[in-house]
Amino acid sequence: MKRIYLSPPHLSGRELELVRDAFESNWVAPLGPHVDAFEREFAAAVGVPHAVALSSGTAALHLALRILGLGRGDEVICPTFTFAASANAITYDGGVPVFVDCDEQTWNLDPGLLRAELADCAARGRLPRAVVAVDLYGQCADYEPILETCAEYDVPVIEDAAEALGATYKNRPAGSFGRAAAFSFNGNKVITTSGGGMLVSHDKAVVDKARFLATQARDPAPHYQHSEIGYNYRLSNILAAIGRGQLAVLAERVTARRRNFEFYRRALGNLPGVGFHPEAACGRATRWLTCLTIDPARAGTDREKVRLALERQDIESRPLWKPMHLQPVFAGCRVRGGEVSARLFEQGLCLPSGSALTGEDLERICATVLQAFPARNRGSAG
Ligand SMILES: *Cc1c(COP(=O)(O)O)cnc(C)c1O
Repeated sequence: MKRIYLSPPHLSGRELELVRDAFESNWVAPLGPHVDAFEREFAAAVGVPHAVALSSGTAALHLALRILGLGRGDEVICPTFTFAASANAITYDGGVPVFVDCDEQTWNLDPGLLRAELADCAARGRLPRAVVAVDLYGQCADYEPILETCAEYDVPVIEDAAEALGATYKNRPAGSFGRAAAFSFNGNKVITTSGGGMLVSHDKAVVDKARFLATQARDPAPHYQHSEIGYNYRLSNILAAIGRGQLAVLAERVTARRRNFEFYRRALGNLPGVGFHPEAACGRATRWLTCLTIDPARAGTDREKVRLALERQDIESRPLWKPMHLQPVFAGCRVRGGEVSARLFEQGLCLPSGSALTGEDLERICATVLQAFPARNRGSAG
């Protein structure tokens, strides 16, 4: 039997044609017509006017923070429940992450805790340079209260939409909420370029500055002149060609991922102690990864037993993100709350969620999960 991966790439068939065009026109370069077209098409897809294609989502976050003027010792608020890249980028220019727990409804930045943290920061006379809001597992954060609070304190929001391309919140696309937003085309995301990212913004100056910094901050001169430290962060024309082929099927990919989620929920949702990632009423999630939680007190099994049972059947699954405040590298950083994300980490599992999963694959995965539950608890499942 073939191994089932967590979230493998899923090509549309159009990518090769576009890559062939890049080869035949000799645009095997960092920059080129596919990069320009990918940026235009991407900006249109997320409803934000300006976009710059970059080598990774992490690079996009780094540039967004740098352009906001993040400097040594500046604090930046970040959800503790996220992938390390969100917090890592804060540290590149000497920033200090301050972690805030997620809420039970969205698993994203808790707006109430954020408000309390900002009030305390203001009372100390030291506001953070920015708030990074993350759209985790394909679901937007609750932007209405988040943006309102941040506007009150005049703190800009950067949106880490790396996991949420194709999601909406109050009918607006993920990536359209912050001062700037970062996307990722890593191999495990809803669409991939094998590796890559995009920075988008409503503010042309932000994207122009990012493009400048991403190409070694070359001043406009015929010779090589530099007045600032830059980076080599651009996306190659070859990878942009792959991205265009992928972007064309984004809606289908989201539909397939949501279908996976519904299959799992029907098959496993009635097991005692099993919960699924809630979908907040105000948005439409992509279900990038299907996440469930297993409460061992009621389930008669636990997250790790289920994960190992899947692994024995050559099925890849993963615990949910380990919160940043529990990571050795961020020991000593301030955290507000943390119990919700700690519990999600202990009890949560991401099931295989690729958009190319077949009905047979899904049956095989569900049967394996069921077998990991004690027989007395299986009857109530679908
Ligand atoms: C994938 C991811 C990133 C980083 O994207 P890369 O393209 O891998 O650098 C950032 N934040 C979150 C939440 C992610 O899931």
